[in-house]
Amino acid sequence: MDTSNYVDIAIVGGGMTGAAMALALSDTGLSVCVIEPRPPASAEAGTPPDLRISSLNQANCDFLDRLGAFDAMDASRIHPFTRLAVWEDLAGTTLPGARSRWNRTIFDASEIKADRLGVMVENQVIQSALWSCFDDIDTLSCLTPARLERLTLGEDSVRLTLDCDGVPHDLEAGLVIGAEGARSAVREQAGISIDTRPYEHKAMIVNVQTAAPTLDMTWQAFTPSGPHALLPLFAPADQPDKAWASLIWYDAPARIDALQSLSFEALQTEIEQTFPDELPPIDHISGVGSFPLVRQHAERYVQDRVALIGDAAHVINPLAGQGVNLGFQDVEALSRVIHDALSEGRPWWRQHVLLEYAMKRKWANQLMMSTMDAFYHGFRHQGLPFKLVRNAGLALAGHAGFGRRRVMAYAMGLSHP
Ligand SMILES: Cc1cc2nc3c(=O)[nH]c(=O)nc-3n(C[C@H](O)[C@H](O)[C@H](O)COP(=O)(O)OP(=O)(O)OC[C@H]3O[C@@H](n4cnc5c(N)ncnc54)[C@H](O)[C@@H]3O)c2cc1C
Repeated sequence: MDTSNYVDIAIVGGGMTGAAMALALSDTGLSVCVIEPRPPASAEAGTPPDLRISSLNQANCDFLDRLGAFDAMDASRIHPFTRLAVWEDLAGTTLPGARSRWNRTIFDASEIKADRLGVMVENQVIQSALWSCFDDIDTLSCLTPARLERLTLGEDSVRLTLDCDGVPHDLEAGLVIGAEGARSAVREQAGISIDTRPYEHKAMIVNVQTAAPTLDMTWQAFTPSGPHALLPLFAPADQPDKAWASLIWYDAPARIDALQSLSFEALQTEIEQTFPDELPPIDHISGVGSFPLVRQHAERYVQDRVALIGDAAHVINPLAGQGVNLGFQDVEALSRVIHDALSEGRPWWRQHVLLEYAMKRKWANQLMMSTMDAFYHGFRHQGLPFKLVRNAGLALAGHAGFGRRRVMAYAMGLSHP
């Protein structure tokens, strides 16, 4: 083995979960190398938000804080939210006692004596903050731009064949962690199969500037054609009365493609005709993108010398913005298993040790995926009996009590369903 090209742990993918994994391992004394084709670009002051944003729940804000990355984020682009509004469009169905087209409930952090439910922040701001913490860690190296081309699993190590900006490069590692997202090359080359289920909807993300100060509330509505959401973002420093927001529109792929082909002005008119008047008025649109929706779950997360984290292991319906939150929980769990194995002198690269991580996270991720699917499919049924059940559920959620506080604790990442 060429020891000059050897690291204890190679992390393939330096996105949010891969970068967090590198920091979480920084006090183990193990040598770690992050392999990433596109190092993060910092958001320039005064620029509109990037389309890719995350709602970080409070538990994961605390986790990033422990890694030293929360304070490294550009505070002007972090937006806290304290309330969560959930509406259902009754769409012409007359429910007994209904006085409005919308069946609504609001969850408020103050009910559980919390300052906030979480924060909205651009993915690139999170990733840049994590990378900015790499500088002080002697045991951590980065290969970038570099991408994994081939993985050869051996008894004593794993050989990674990389493409470093057109130049081939070989690296040996004791353990490889696949953190390169939904199309994980580590997963594929380790022969781990994946259960993939596409949803019928596509999601369009529209960045809008509102003609109103920023909201402290996320808004989500279930309509017959698919969910709609408005997520509040930061306000520009020089225009505090014109905040950014991310509008999310789920619909049939053909409808999303047609909407995305419109001019920004025509799309704004469509949004104004479709979304409720109570939302803040739109001043202008700054960007649009769309994604097919898919659910994916790896058949296993670990084997000898291989572990998967984040979207490489699981892709969830983004309905409740839980994707990276689950990824950070994977990071916490896997780093704890490696720490414990090291301190007890156990082989941290072996499947039987790594299985402790897989057993902890696989069922929890499965449970969250199934909960999101129950919401997604449950709200699609338009028959009166389904509407009555949902109405009763939202009405119950509208009353103070233990169940309601559990929903909020769950949204904050502080408990399981
Ligand atoms: C519409 C939408 C909205 C969402 N909203 C939210 C939200 O509000 N909250 C939330 O928690 N989650 C949300 N998610 C999910 C979230 O974005 C993902 O779960 C998250 O980005 C996964 O992070 P990751 O680091 O595992 O993977 P990725 O973000 O995909 O990062 C993978 C990294 O690996 C690198 N890479 C790829 N191939 C290779 C290779 N061959 N070699 C080396 N490196 C490679 C890539 O350059 C990238 O940096 C949303 C997703 C969608 C589609």
